[in-house]
Amino acid sequence: MNKTIFKDWDFPIDRFFLSAGPCSAESAEQVMETAKALSKEKISFLRAGIWKPRTRPGSFEGVGLKGLAWLDQARQETGLKIGTEVAEPAHVEACLEFGLDILWVGARTTTNPFSVQAIADALKGTDIPVLVKNPISADIGLWIGAIERLANAGITKIGAIHRGFSSSLEMRYRNTPNWKMPIELKRRLPEIPIICDPSHICGKTELIPAIAQEALDLLFDGLMLEVHPRPETALSDPEQQLTPDQFSSLIQSITVPTEQSNSSKFVGELTQLRENVDELDSRLIDLLGERMEVVRKMGKLKAEQKVSTLQPKRWQEIVDNRVAKGSQRNLSENFMLQLMQSIHEEAIRQQEEDRVCL
Ligand code: PEP
Ligand code: MN
Repeated sequence: MNKTIFKDWDFPIDRFFLSAGPCSAESAEQVMETAKALSKEKISFLRAGIWKPRTRPGSFEGVGLKGLAWLDQARQETGLKIGTEVAEPAHVEACLEFGLDILWVGARTTTNPFSVQAIADALKGTDIPVLVKNPISADIGLWIGAIERLANAGITKIGAIHRGFSSSLEMRYRNTPNWKMPIELKRRLPEIPIICDPSHICGKTELIPAIAQEALDLLFDGLMLEVHPRPETALSDPEQQLTPDQFSSLIQSITVPTEQSNSSKFVGELTQLRENVDELDSRLIDLLGERMEVVRKMGKLKAEQKVSTLQPKRWQEIVDNRVAKGSQRNLSENFMLQLMQSIHEEAIRQQEEDRVCL
């Protein structure tokens, strides 16, 4: 990895940054047992939650301060670096006192600019690395805003963690991956390393390997994975924590791709295929332009007759028909729906633009 933030840290494979550990620190023994098992892999830091933001009160809310001492002991025994989540200035102060190696801001905290600012203020004058999880909702502004608040406070080693987004439409994952969000973050902030947290995306261990691999295929800089010696007894997130053995096999099975290849055969073939795609995209844009011209004519007709721009029955027909047609070309329902929604939104915008000008 070419990012300066983790320059002196351990990496299991090449540029690939790796954090692992229990969702929550539960006891000195559990932290030590996990740390010892994980120290066999070359992990970059041991993670464990000390203060747990739970959705409902009454569930396990973390062991608090004493957990920091357990992490510190595990560090002394194994040499692993240690990190935890901070949600308020008092957490930051306690972590700095214990000399934690890295901190992260949780998804619920990133959602709240007041909290992020308070954390950033508490961090002023330090140079500890800080990772920022994406906010629970798919709002890239809040994610970038949190990173900016830390940067403005003088923190220079900032990374991002993609842990998925809450969505009422998602059935398979606990938090929908919505890969376009981290891809957009990477485009807007190319200097910021980005790590994927497949545990909180998946919510179930069996889905984790595929998401972990996909993150690396999308050129993420690393992974954060929840690992517990006995996941079924875990006090938080029992269904998504890997055993140390499952973790080791996952790390061994994963492939870390490089962005480029020197093979001239590969470069030649890819260049040709890319030219093909460029040509197809150009035709798509011409077609979309042509479609919008027709749409504008329909808009004029509707306006003259004082007929509504939105035609719900026709829109439903279009959705049904295009989704079915798309499936014959191996295009997913979700993709077809999103594509048609975008086209329809632009069509409405253009028709309304003409109406206002009438
Ligand atoms: C965690 O990492 O255990 C955690 C609470 O994650 P998130 O902030 O992503 O929900
Ligand atoms: Mn968790």
